[in-house]
Amino acid sequence: MEELSDVIVLAVECGETAIWSQNLLTGETRYSRALKALLGYDEGEPARLAADNSSLHAHPDDLAAIHEAFQSCVENKAEKYEVEHRFRSKDGTYRWVLSRGKVVGRDETGRPLRMVGTTTEITAVRSLVEELQKTVDRIKSLTNEIPGLVFQFEQTPDGSTHFPYANGWIQEIYEISPEQVRHTSAPVLHRIHQDDLERYEAALALSRRDLVPWRVEYRAVLPSRGVRWHWLDAKPTRGCDGSTIWHGLITDITEQKRVEEQLNELARIDYLTQLPNRRYFREQMEIELYRMRRSGGGTDAVLMIDIDEFKSINDSYGHIVGDVVIQSFATSLRQQLRKNDIAGRLGGEEFAVMLSSAKLPDAATFARRLQKRISGRPVLLDGEPIYFTISVGIAVMSDDDEDIDFSLSDADRALYQAKYLGRNRIEIAVSKKSL
Ligand code: GH3
Ligand code: MG
Ligand code: MG
Repeated sequence: MEELSDVIVLAVECGETAIWSQNLLTGETRYSRALKALLGYDEGEPARLAADNSSLHAHPDDLAAIHEAFQSCVENKAEKYEVEHRFRSKDGTYRWVLSRGKVVGRDETGRPLRMVGTTTEITAVRSLVEELQKTVDRIKSLTNEIPGLVFQFEQTPDGSTHFPYANGWIQEIYEISPEQVRHTSAPVLHRIHQDDLERYEAALALSRRDLVPWRVEYRAVLPSRGVRWHWLDAKPTRGCDGSTIWHGLITDITEQKRVEEQLNELARIDYLTQLPNRRYFREQMEIELYRMRRSGGGTDAVLMIDIDEFKSINDSYGHIVGDVVIQSFATSLRQQLRKNDIAGRLGGEEFAVMLSSAKLPDAATFARRLQKRISGRPVLLDGEPIYFTISVGIAVMSDDDEDIDFSLSDADRALYQAKYLGRNRIEIAVSKKSL
């Protein structure tokens, strides 16, 4: 008991929180020493003191709020009160305090007789809160200046996901509000293009597992802006509860994608004939060979075609007419192709064709039809027809070919044979494999 009262004395006399009690009938108030210190008086200095409901110390603008809180107890509407307000010090400056009061004594009818309370300085806390608010405001306006969706994304251990923070750009990027995704990311997932969703989620899963950056390019389908390309780049951190939090940025890269696509097209398509160039044709053959291996079977026919005696066309009519002949041949060739066939200009007046799921006789028929077509439609120069012929070498590409050059060099040798045997001919390769 002795010890407990010591502790109470210590708390009252040495604590920084001022303690007061007030007789509600007489108005007589008693305070602990801390109130003096709180108001800026030295220990021995005489001071005018009052409890915090008094207008002696409270800021005029806060009086009404203090009074209301205090009266709620006096009038028995509340057991205790709590109010933040300014308190005037000896030097006239104001400090923020938190005042709490509680009824501790009542008469037999229950009417409050005595109140005790505490007054704690919170100036430092208040200015910290204000500073913090300023920082939050600054970060908010800063992140809204960044041309992209700045976000925080969280995946909890049960796998559910949401965006605890998203800046105003979410409206532009996904045409939804930050509030819509605060507790679930479902509205965002609904915006991801069906064909890109798997890639988007795989990148997320990898990032979560290995804590590597979540980076993905994908399309979003928006109600008013249609299909847009996005670039997402975010860094993950693991919370102690096993959740993963990403901080990142999503930008709209539709315009860059369009330019990139145009550049790719330029790099893939031959300008004169608008057919795939050598590199792109070879790429397409690689893809086809890979597809054949995966589906385990089938053959494609490969044709090498070269215009005969083309030099003499150039020599007789000039280079520009030579170009028209190349273009005219390319048009005839393109018109013969089926949906999955691919033709390319390998260079000069040399072309290659890949006929999907075709055998040697199909390819021979194709070549004969092409020969017939170009002989029936010569290029006209001032009404005069310019006739030309082609030589064709045919080979087969099968799924057990080591690479695409197997069939290409077979077809090339057959073409050489056609030239050797007099041109305007179709020759079928004797495969290296069967030699
Ligand atoms: P052959 O194939 O029957 O053996 O004889 P060729 O005269 O066609 O022989 P070659 O393939 O060696 O010659 C092709 C010529 O095509 C050489 C080159 O000056 C010309 N040439 C290459 N590219 C172009 C082009 O884009 N436009 C024009 N007009 N001529 C080109
Ligand atoms: Mg030629
Ligand atoms: Mg040639």
